[in-house]
Amino acid sequence: MLDFAKRDSFPHGIHPPENKDDTSGLPIRQFPFAPVLIVPLSQHLGKPAKPVVREGQEVVRGQTIAEADGFMSVAMHAPASGTIRRIGLAPHINGQMVEAVYLEPLPASTQEIADGEPCDVESATPDEIVTAIQRAGIVGLGGAAFPTHVKLRPPEGKTLDTLFINGVECEPYLTTDHRVMLEQTEDIFMGIRYLLKVTQTPRAVIAIEANKPDAAEKLAAAVPEDLPVEVRVSPVKYPQGAEKMVIKALLGREIPSGGLPADVGAVCCNVATTAEIGRLLPRGRGIQERVITITGPGVSKKGNYRIPIGTTVRFALEQCGAVEDISRVFMGGPMMGPSVSNLDIPITKGTSGITAFTAAETGGSTGHRKVYPCIGCARCVEACPLYLNPSQLGILAKFEQYEQMADDFHLMDCFECGSCSYVCPSHIPLVQYFRMSKKMVRKMRAAA
Ligand code: SF4
Ligand code: SF4
Repeated sequence: MLDFAKRDSFPHGIHPPENKDDTSGLPIRQFPFAPVLIVPLSQHLGKPAKPVVREGQEVVRGQTIAEADGFMSVAMHAPASGTIRRIGLAPHINGQMVEAVYLEPLPASTQEIADGEPCDVESATPDEIVTAIQRAGIVGLGGAAFPTHVKLRPPEGKTLDTLFINGVECEPYLTTDHRVMLEQTEDIFMGIRYLLKVTQTPRAVIAIEANKPDAAEKLAAAVPEDLPVEVRVSPVKYPQGAEKMVIKALLGREIPSGGLPADVGAVCCNVATTAEIGRLLPRGRGIQERVITITGPGVSKKGNYRIPIGTTVRFALEQCGAVEDISRVFMGGPMMGPSVSNLDIPITKGTSGITAFTAAETGGSTGHRKVYPCIGCARCVEACPLYLNPSQLGILAKFEQYEQMADDFHLMDCFECGSCSYVCPSHIPLVQYFRMSKKMVRKMRAAA
């Protein structure tokens, strides 16, 4: 029996408007193919994949077009049957140019996907499942794009007791995971079978927020008898979907500064990632499309779409009825999604949504609000779920005191949830400062 009244949550956090009603009731629809699909070889944390196709070659949908280059890397698959037009640089969400495969889909193709060598959950060993997940090109679809097979291997000496399937989806506007939970229920439980076998954890917990009661009830009613799975519902609060927060909320365990979920016996996997494992591995297929929410006041045809990897943001917005005065586009939701100015970047495995705003919502044609000096109100401190001091960090960022930010104020623990920026009455773009400062710290440490 699900307990919706239980108040398992974490301290601090915020309650931004959810804005999910526009798409949460819309079933997932297949997105058309763009005239050209741009598949970056680096869509994940780690080493880029190595291309195994050449320019001019014809490929079939689902075919491996790039192989993993080492353990911290995953394969890429053709999102459509067509011709490789070019292998060269393409704009990336991180603002840089990265190596990518340009694929022109065949207009007359049936676009059917042939099955590959299946990975049978009963007979496969944990190592074979890990290899199959890597070959399928699976990364965290919640946005982090961390290679899933790496995450499933706990560091030496750590014992895992809980597999978390994260269906919290606390980011405003996005309803991808909600729809996946409703429409891919069986895939999720199949994915959990694989994950339990690899991680050797005795139980799995599916974490959901109370604003998705239909998904929670459907999953709870469908738990297979032989699976040790519990569905837990938390009150709605942002950023509850972050690994650290969901573990704190539902297990009462705190991941230490600089630590990992494995330090407290947990391993987390996003619910859409789990569903893809359950959908792809029994068929021996790889990820060549994903479900995303395209929404916001900047588009008229909002919805959840299964979209080919490599579709550009421009094509996606055009197909969804982009309005003329779009002033700001986020890859993901407006809290954690980076805002992008180049609409020719492709959708990658880590893209969970596109949220488009017009000038009316963002306060001007540039989408940027006037910034005022800090008034010392401490609202940012009260909002930060990690008990950091965003106000002090913001001051240090201004003076480029990156080492002090990291050494004395735990900058590297900040997971860029944006709660501090959201509540700041002076509109100080704290999270942007921290994102940039973290990059500087990493650079300085690498140089040292
Ligand atoms: S400091 Fe980082 S973790 Fe804390 S509220 Fe701001 S963005 Fe979130
Ligand atoms: S919320 Fe903004 S104005 Fe208030 S203390 Fe933090 S940085 Fe300063």
